[in-house]
Amino acid sequence: MGSASRARLYRTEAIILRRRDFGEADRILTLYAPGSGKTRVLAKGVRKPKSRKSGHVELLTHSNLLIAKGRNLDIVTQAEMIHSFLPIRRDLLRTSYAYYAAELLDRFTEEGEENRPLFDLFLSALFWLSDADDLDLALRCFELRLLGYVGYRPQLFSCLGCERPVEGESSLFSPRYGGLLCSRCGENERGCGEVSRRALATLRYLQTREYVACRRLTVDRPTHEELEVLMRRYITYLLERRLKSVDFMDALRREEAASAVSALKAT
Ligand SMILES: [Zn+2]
Repeated sequence: MGSASRARLYRTEAIILRRRDFGEADRILTLYAPGSGKTRVLAKGVRKPKSRKSGHVELLTHSNLLIAKGRNLDIVTQAEMIHSFLPIRRDLLRTSYAYYAAELLDRFTEEGEENRPLFDLFLSALFWLSDADDLDLALRCFELRLLGYVGYRPQLFSCLGCERPVEGESSLFSPRYGGLLCSRCGENERGCGEVSRRALATLRYLQTREYVACRRLTVDRPTHEELEVLMRRYITYLLERRLKSVDFMDALRREEAASAVSALKAT
């Protein structure tokens, strides 16, 4: 009997990817855990004002959880926060970038598929987004690596048509092929976008270098804008939809730009 009840309980660390209200005071949480990947669990009573668990199962929190096997959904019985990522919580723009990363992870994974590297990647991305000066760099690096882990690693070194190495000359990125086409092979391919040398060099760097080296990279604004368009096109093509968090992120950035302009005018 004792061993049977122990078997119904398990402990895991996890990051809260998504949550939605359920019933009177409960929430259904979507977790990402190192051993079980994406899982949905029930957190009972967390919307009650006196809930001891609620602060430990907030969105984007990294927590230690004790979970009981349930008939339909497993149930969180204890929760203890490991990292709250306060800088992300306190800054709306950082929040929007982290939401985007969480939505991306959610969309590209199925429930119950273990993927430890993805968990580690997401956790490091949250640390990076907590103190990054260049939030876009953190996001591009996250996207490129995530795509690699889920089987959509973009080909950035040779043409996917003729297999010749692409060196410096003008090249095209095809979402449908999942990478580069030389100008000859991509001539009649729809949906291709040109990639500048600088943008290509940045993508290659982010795809192949150590994480710590990527963190030190400096990328100028025009290159960032180009990379964002390219990655969004590719991701939208793969998911056959636009991510919801993109609109939130864009709206905040427009707001920031507008307030910067009015601050300039005031001086
Ligand atoms: Zn070619």
